[in-house]
Amino acid sequence: MEHHKIVIFDLDGTLSESKIAIDREMADLLCELLKKKRVAVISGASFEQFEKQFLSNLPCPPVNLSVLPANGSAFLEYKAGEWQTVYEKKLSDMQKVLIRTAMDSVLKKYADLIPEKTYGERLADIGLGMTFSALGQEAPLDEKQKWDPDHAKRTKIVADLQPLLPDIEMTIGGTTSINITVKGADKKNAILALAEHFAVSKGKLAADILYIGDSLFVGGNDYGAIASGVATQKVSGPADTKKIIRDILKA
Ligand SMILES: [Mg+2]
Repeated sequence: MEHHKIVIFDLDGTLSESKIAIDREMADLLCELLKKKRVAVISGASFEQFEKQFLSNLPCPPVNLSVLPANGSAFLEYKAGEWQTVYEKKLSDMQKVLIRTAMDSVLKKYADLIPEKTYGERLADIGLGMTFSALGQEAPLDEKQKWDPDHAKRTKIVADLQPLLPDIEMTIGGTTSINITVKGADKKNAILALAEHFAVSKGKLAADILYIGDSLFVGGNDYGAIASGVATQKVSGPADTKKIIRDILKA
Protein backbone atom coordinates (compact mmCIF):
# COMPACT_ATOMS: atom_id res chain seq x y z
CA MET A 1 0.00 0.00 0.00
CA GLU A 2 3.08 2.23 0.25
CA HIS A 3 3.13 2.88 -3.50
CA HIS A 4 -0.30 4.52 -3.63
CA LYS A 5 -0.12 8.21 -4.47
CA ILE A 6 -3.53 9.09 -3.07
CA VAL A 7 -5.05 7.75 0.15
CA ILE A 8 -8.79 8.27 0.65
CA PHE A 9 -10.51 7.80 3.99
CA ASP A 10 -14.08 7.44 5.10
CA LEU A 11 -14.80 9.60 8.18
CA ASP A 12 -17.29 8.03 10.64
CA GLY A 13 -16.15 4.65 11.95
CA THR A 14 -12.80 5.05 10.17
CA LEU A 15 -11.02 8.24 11.31
CA SER A 16 -13.24 8.62 14.40
CA GLU A 17 -16.37 7.18 15.92
CA SER A 18 -19.63 8.45 14.43
CA LYS A 19 -19.81 12.27 14.70
CA ILE A 20 -17.05 12.34 17.34
CA ALA A 21 -13.93 14.46 16.84
CA ILE A 22 -10.77 12.71 15.65
CA ASP A 23 -8.34 12.20 18.52
CA ARG A 24 -4.90 13.81 18.77
CA GLU A 25 -3.04 10.64 17.83
CA MET A 26 -5.09 10.30 14.62
CA ALA A 27 -4.62 14.01 13.87
CA ASP A 28 -0.82 13.71 14.24
CA LEU A 29 -0.70 10.59 12.04
CA LEU A 30 -2.75 12.33 9.34
CA CYS A 31 -0.40 15.33 9.43
CA GLU A 32 2.56 12.98 8.89
CA LEU A 33 0.71 11.28 6.04
CA LEU A 34 -0.06 14.64 4.38
CA LYS A 35 3.69 15.23 4.07
CA LYS A 36 4.05 12.04 1.97
CA LYS A 37 0.76 11.54 0.16
CA ARG A 38 -2.21 13.31 -1.27
CA VAL A 39 -5.09 12.57 1.12
CA ALA A 40 -8.85 12.85 0.69
CA VAL A 41 -11.82 12.23 2.99
CA ILE A 42 -15.27 11.34 1.69
CA SER A 43 -18.30 11.23 3.97
CA GLY A 44 -22.02 11.83 4.03
CA ALA A 45 -21.37 14.68 6.49
CA SER A 46 -21.70 18.38 5.62
CA PHE A 47 -18.60 20.57 5.23
CA GLU A 48 -19.48 22.21 8.57
CA GLN A 49 -19.42 18.78 10.20
CA PHE A 50 -16.06 18.05 8.52
CA GLU A 51 -14.72 21.26 10.08
CA LYS A 52 -16.04 20.45 13.54
CA GLN A 53 -15.15 16.77 13.62
CA PHE A 54 -11.98 16.69 11.54
CA LEU A 55 -10.41 19.86 10.10
CA SER A 56 -10.45 21.98 13.26
CA ASN A 57 -8.58 19.21 15.09
CA LEU A 58 -5.69 18.97 12.64
CA PRO A 59 -2.58 20.58 14.13
CA CYS A 60 -1.11 21.20 10.66
CA PRO A 61 -2.18 23.19 7.59
CA PRO A 62 -4.24 20.80 5.42
CA VAL A 63 -1.82 20.97 2.47
CA ASN A 64 -2.41 18.04 0.07
CA LEU A 65 -5.89 17.45 1.51
CA SER A 66 -9.20 17.25 -0.35
CA VAL A 67 -12.61 16.80 1.26
CA LEU A 68 -15.78 15.55 -0.40
CA PRO A 69 -18.77 16.23 1.88
CA ALA A 70 -22.32 14.93 1.36
CA ASN A 71 -20.98 11.81 -0.40
CA GLY A 72 -19.18 13.87 -2.98
CA SER A 73 -21.92 16.44 -3.62
CA ALA A 74 -19.03 18.88 -3.34
CA PHE A 75 -15.27 18.56 -3.84
CA LEU A 76 -13.01 21.00 -2.00
CA GLU A 77 -9.26 21.17 -2.29
CA TYR A 78 -6.91 23.05 0.04
CA LYS A 79 -4.78 25.13 -2.28
CA ALA A 80 -2.75 28.31 -1.88
CA GLY A 81 -3.73 28.56 1.78
CA GLU A 82 -7.49 28.24 1.42
CA TRP A 83 -10.32 25.86 0.58
CA GLN A 84 -11.19 26.02 -3.10
CA THR A 85 -14.28 24.45 -4.60
CA VAL A 86 -13.58 22.06 -7.48
CA TYR A 87 -17.32 21.46 -7.93
CA GLU A 88 -20.53 21.71 -5.93
CA LYS A 89 -23.94 20.14 -6.66
CA LYS A 90 -26.73 21.15 -4.29
CA LEU A 91 -30.31 20.05 -3.84
CA SER A 92 -32.68 22.93 -4.63
CA ASP A 93 -35.01 24.41 -1.99
CA MET A 94 -37.95 22.93 -3.91
CA GLN A 95 -36.38 19.46 -3.83
CA LYS A 96 -35.89 19.82 -0.06
CA VAL A 97 -39.59 20.63 0.40
CA LEU A 98 -40.54 17.55 -1.63
CA ILE A 99 -38.16 15.41 0.43
CA ARG A 100 -39.73 16.58 3.72
CA THR A 101 -43.22 15.81 2.46
CA ALA A 102 -42.26 12.38 1.13
CA MET A 103 -40.32 11.50 4.29
CA ASP A 104 -43.28 12.49 6.50
CA SER A 105 -45.59 10.15 4.63
CA VAL A 106 -43.13 7.21 4.67
CA LEU A 107 -42.39 7.66 8.38
CA LYS A 108 -46.11 7.54 9.16
CA LYS A 109 -46.18 4.08 7.63
CA TYR A 110 -43.09 2.96 9.57
CA ALA A 111 -43.96 4.65 12.88
CA ASP A 112 -43.22 1.40 14.73
CA LEU A 113 -39.61 1.36 13.48
CA ILE A 114 -38.73 4.83 14.68
CA PRO A 115 -38.36 5.51 18.41
CA GLU A 116 -40.46 8.35 19.73
CA LYS A 117 -37.59 9.85 21.67
CA THR A 118 -35.17 11.72 19.43
CA TYR A 119 -32.06 13.74 20.12
CA GLY A 120 -32.21 16.83 17.94
CA GLU A 121 -33.38 17.14 14.38
CA ARG A 122 -34.41 13.98 12.53
CA LEU A 123 -34.31 15.37 8.99
CA ALA A 124 -31.61 18.02 8.81
CA ASP A 125 -30.87 20.40 5.96
CA ILE A 126 -27.08 20.19 5.55
CA GLY A 127 -26.90 22.72 2.74
CA LEU A 128 -25.70 20.47 -0.07
CA GLY A 129 -28.28 17.86 0.79
CA MET A 130 -30.33 16.49 3.66
CA THR A 131 -29.52 13.91 6.29
CA PHE A 132 -32.11 11.68 7.92
CA SER A 133 -30.91 10.55 11.35
CA ALA A 134 -33.45 8.14 12.80
CA LEU A 135 -32.70 8.99 16.45
CA GLY A 136 -31.88 12.65 15.78
CA GLN A 137 -28.64 14.47 14.97
CA GLU A 138 -27.34 14.43 18.56
CA ALA A 139 -28.17 10.85 19.53
CA PRO A 140 -25.66 8.99 21.74
CA LEU A 141 -23.45 6.49 19.91
CA ASP A 142 -24.48 3.38 21.91
CA GLU A 143 -28.17 3.94 21.13
CA LYS A 144 -27.37 4.58 17.49
CA GLN A 145 -25.38 1.37 17.20
CA LYS A 146 -28.31 -0.68 18.50
CA TRP A 147 -30.99 0.74 16.24
CA ASP A 148 -30.30 -0.66 12.75
CA PRO A 149 -27.05 -2.66 12.69
CA ASP A 150 -28.14 -4.75 9.68
CA HIS A 151 -29.59 -1.74 7.75
CA ALA A 152 -32.98 -3.54 7.54
CA LYS A 153 -35.02 -0.60 8.85
CA ARG A 154 -33.37 1.96 6.59
CA THR A 155 -33.60 -0.36 3.60
CA LYS A 156 -37.38 -0.43 4.09
CA ILE A 157 -37.58 3.35 4.39
CA VAL A 158 -35.46 3.90 1.27
CA ALA A 159 -37.47 1.33 -0.70
CA ASP A 160 -40.62 3.38 -0.06
CA LEU A 161 -39.01 6.79 -0.37
CA GLN A 162 -37.02 6.30 -3.59
CA PRO A 163 -40.04 5.84 -5.93
CA LEU A 164 -41.53 9.08 -4.55
CA LEU A 165 -38.28 10.94 -5.31
CA PRO A 166 -36.80 9.29 -8.41
CA ASP A 167 -34.42 12.16 -9.21
CA ILE A 168 -32.80 12.22 -5.79
CA GLU A 169 -29.96 10.03 -4.49
CA MET A 170 -30.45 8.15 -1.22
CA THR A 171 -27.68 6.19 0.44
CA ILE A 172 -27.66 4.41 3.77
CA GLY A 173 -25.00 6.04 5.95
CA GLY A 174 -22.94 4.99 8.97
CA THR A 175 -25.20 4.06 11.90
CA THR A 176 -28.71 5.55 11.69
CA SER A 177 -28.57 7.89 8.74
CA ILE A 178 -29.79 8.11 5.20
CA ASN A 179 -27.88 10.63 3.07
CA ILE A 180 -30.15 12.43 0.65
CA THR A 181 -28.31 14.25 -2.13
CA VAL A 182 -28.36 15.19 -5.79
CA LYS A 183 -28.61 12.24 -8.17
CA GLY A 184 -25.23 10.63 -8.72
CA ALA A 185 -23.62 11.82 -5.47
CA ASP A 186 -22.18 8.60 -4.13
CA LYS A 187 -18.76 7.37 -3.10
CA LYS A 188 -18.04 5.66 -6.41
CA ASN A 189 -18.61 8.83 -8.42
CA ALA A 190 -16.77 10.93 -5.83
CA ILE A 191 -13.70 8.67 -6.10
CA LEU A 192 -13.80 8.75 -9.89
CA ALA A 193 -14.09 12.56 -9.86
CA LEU A 194 -11.09 12.73 -7.55
CA ALA A 195 -9.10 10.40 -9.81
CA GLU A 196 -9.92 12.52 -12.84
CA HIS A 197 -9.03 15.76 -11.05
CA PHE A 198 -5.62 14.39 -10.07
CA ALA A 199 -5.05 12.85 -13.52
CA VAL A 200 -5.11 9.20 -12.48
CA SER A 201 -6.00 7.21 -15.59
CA LYS A 202 -8.59 4.40 -15.52
CA GLY A 203 -5.88 1.77 -15.86
CA LYS A 204 -4.00 3.07 -12.80
CA LEU A 205 -6.86 3.40 -10.30
CA ALA A 206 -5.86 0.36 -8.23
CA ALA A 207 -2.15 1.15 -8.43
CA ASP A 208 -2.39 4.82 -7.49
CA ILE A 209 -5.36 5.14 -5.13
CA LEU A 210 -6.06 3.38 -1.83
CA TYR A 211 -9.46 3.75 -0.10
CA ILE A 212 -9.73 2.95 3.61
CA GLY A 213 -13.14 2.47 5.23
CA ASP A 214 -15.10 0.48 7.82
CA SER A 215 -18.07 -0.46 5.60
CA LEU A 216 -16.46 -2.11 2.58
CA PHE A 217 -19.08 -4.83 2.18
CA VAL A 218 -22.04 -5.27 -0.15
CA GLY A 219 -24.67 -2.78 1.03
CA GLY A 220 -22.10 -0.91 3.16
CA ASN A 221 -21.63 2.80 2.58
CA ASP A 222 -18.02 2.31 1.43
CA TYR A 223 -18.93 -0.32 -1.15
CA GLY A 224 -18.78 2.31 -3.91
CA ALA A 225 -15.01 2.30 -3.43
CA ILE A 226 -14.83 -1.35 -4.50
CA ALA A 227 -17.10 -0.58 -7.43
CA SER A 228 -14.86 2.33 -8.48
CA GLY A 229 -11.87 0.07 -9.12
CA VAL A 230 -9.40 1.60 -6.64
CA ALA A 231 -7.52 -0.51 -4.09
CA THR A 232 -9.39 -0.87 -0.81
CA GLN A 233 -8.51 -1.65 2.79
CA LYS A 234 -11.22 -2.57 5.30
CA VAL A 235 -10.72 -1.41 8.88
CA SER A 236 -12.60 -2.29 12.07
CA GLY A 237 -12.40 1.25 13.46
CA PRO A 238 -10.09 4.19 14.18
CA ALA A 239 -7.49 2.08 16.07
CA ASP A 240 -7.15 -0.18 13.04
CA THR A 241 -6.89 2.84 10.72
CA LYS A 242 -3.99 4.17 12.82
CA LYS A 243 -2.16 0.87 12.28
CA ILE A 244 -2.61 1.15 8.52
CA ILE A 245 -1.38 4.76 8.47
CA ARG A 246 1.70 3.76 10.50
CA ASP A 247 2.41 0.99 7.97
CA ILE A 248 2.17 3.47 5.11
CA LEU A 249 4.45 5.93 6.93
CA LYS A 250 7.05 3.23 7.65
CA ALA A 251 7.30 2.14 4.04
MG1 LIG B 1 -17.97 4.64 7.99
